[in-house]
Amino acid sequence: MKLKGHSQEIEDGKAGLIFDIKRYSVHDGPGIRTTIFFKGCPLDCPWCQNPESRDYSPQLLFRKEKCIVCGSCLDTCPAGAISSENGDLSPDSEKCICCGTCTEACPTGAREMVGRIMSVGEVVREVEKDTLFYDESGGGVTFSGGEPLAQPDFLVGLLKACGERGFHRAVDTTGLTDPGTLIQVAKETDLFLYDLKLMDPELHRQFTGVTNERIISNLRLLTRMAMKVVIRYPVIPSVNDDLENARLTAEFVGSLEGVPDVNILPFHKAARDKHKRFGLDYRLDEATEASEQQIARISAVMEENGLTVKIGG
Ligand code: SF4
Ligand code: SF4
Repeated sequence: MKLKGHSQEIEDGKAGLIFDIKRYSVHDGPGIRTTIFFKGCPLDCPWCQNPESRDYSPQLLFRKEKCIVCGSCLDTCPAGAISSENGDLSPDSEKCICCGTCTEACPTGAREMVGRIMSVGEVVREVEKDTLFYDESGGGVTFSGGEPLAQPDFLVGLLKACGERGFHRAVDTTGLTDPGTLIQVAKETDLFLYDLKLMDPELHRQFTGVTNERIISNLRLLTRMAMKVVIRYPVIPSVNDDLENARLTAEFVGSLEGVPDVNILPFHKAARDKHKRFGLDYRLDEATEASEQQIARISAVMEENGLTVKIGG
């Protein structure tokens, strides 16, 4: 990852790119949790709930509907990326260097930087603020994204620091990394929340941009290491809501050592506006949300194969 002024800290794993920290989460592992969202992901899933997490660099978000065209941002931009042509102050993405200067000048919050470099110490200080909730609920910290395994040294540094403080540590992952990295991360992790989307490698490539062989073999590796794993199965209409994929997934998960539980996550369109704000094409505009009946059928296929299923995170 190349980020101006921060490359050495990032290379050393002492800092990384975070796009959000969510407190009091009850869907990212046991108890009440603090979820740390890493920015950058090697997959390109059209149903992504966090499209701002895909890019491996900070991004300027412009909310046109909040802009009152006051012009305060115009002169602050050192890169000449803002012009008032036709009354539209949208940044020129070719020229913008993501310095964030205009966000400070804007009185309405129409401009916002997404993604910031944080050190291990800074993140841990945020996590420590909720210690009381972890103690009372059996919760802890979850590293999510984006893909936390895409910043492995930073992730391991965070996991170690949280482990030293006795926090329960979960990693929410697509599983796409090399096995050596995964083993390093696993040594410092208490629970993996592991995405399984499609069993067919070609369909997986078609929808996410990558094939699933490494994802499948890494999951097997984790279960052979006797790691605690929960499978996350997002149900996406016209992508993987068929019973055949559910059956193949159930057979595979049922063959794993320790037989992980499965969380079925019904697709919803909440991220549609987010895609548009980031200028990303939302390829699921036509998709309808999965019906309760279809979710129940998929769940039944899993249970027939001996799996313990929960619907929702
Ligand atoms: S982030 Fe910096 S370069 Fe980009 S539009 Fe704002 S001031 Fe200009
Ligand atoms: S400072 Fe904010 S509200 Fe004013 S013109 Fe720029 S983006 Fe719009």
